[in-house]
Amino acid sequence: AIGEVILEVDRVGVRYGAVTAVDDAGFDVREGEIVGLIGPNGAGKTTLMDAISGFTPATGDIRLDGIGIGGLPPHRRARAGLGRTFQDIELYDELTVAENVMVGGSDTGVLARLGIADLAQVPASDLSQGQRQLVSVARILAGAPRLALLDEPAAGLDSSESRWLGERLRAARDSGVTMLLVDHDMDLVLSICDRIIVLDLGKVIATGTPDDIRNNPAVVGAYLGTP
Ligand code: ATP
Repeated sequence: AIGEVILEVDRVGVRYGAVTAVDDAGFDVREGEIVGLIGPNGAGKTTLMDAISGFTPATGDIRLDGIGIGGLPPHRRARAGLGRTFQDIELYDELTVAENVMVGGSDTGVLARLGIADLAQVPASDLSQGQRQLVSVARILAGAPRLALLDEPAAGLDSSESRWLGERLRAARDSGVTMLLVDHDMDLVLSICDRIIVLDLGKVIATGTPDDIRNNPAVVGAYLGTP
């Protein structure tokens, strides 16, 4: 069930010199949701994830459970409950899946909740790319974050691997995990997210359910590059 607001992004801006990468962005994430963050290349998605997790300075307010975290360094935001995966996945190939997951925290029950308990004793070197990417998510979830920020978990996966990953992420959500997801795989985002935020040129141009987003002319325009 969807619960209270966990994350509030309020008038957030990020500039790199003359480039405004994120411009007055605002949205909420509620407990129990998977929220997708999409937009064309250069829209500001990674920059916004960096701003939320503390890897890039931002103006505006970012609150986690009502408490301002915008001034905190990344490790203190992590301690406050923000988990984050990165695009470059680094598993320890010589360790098992369970051991890799324990690097991130002690909640090893996460493998069962993701439906991959059968992989626990498999060496990471034996995993498929999709399995590797899910294990990197599991490692973050093992730290029991209030909110998990997932950066392109389906990058490089074919459509059947991506569907498999999506089913596992839905299972995580159904077990109570809240996620903010950036991905270029529209089939994945539209099929698993409860709500979607669309960025274009640093601005939030739409928010809504997958159906709202599919039928939004501004979103279609942003992707097709028409004004
Ligand atoms: P992609 O889908 O291609 O990953 P994105 O939506 O994640 O794109 P960002 O990578 O956040 O977009 O980039 C947003 C804007 O900020 C772009 O114009 C980009 O060129 C610029 N930008 C990003 N990082 C930096 C940086 N470190 N220095 C200068 N400009 C940057």
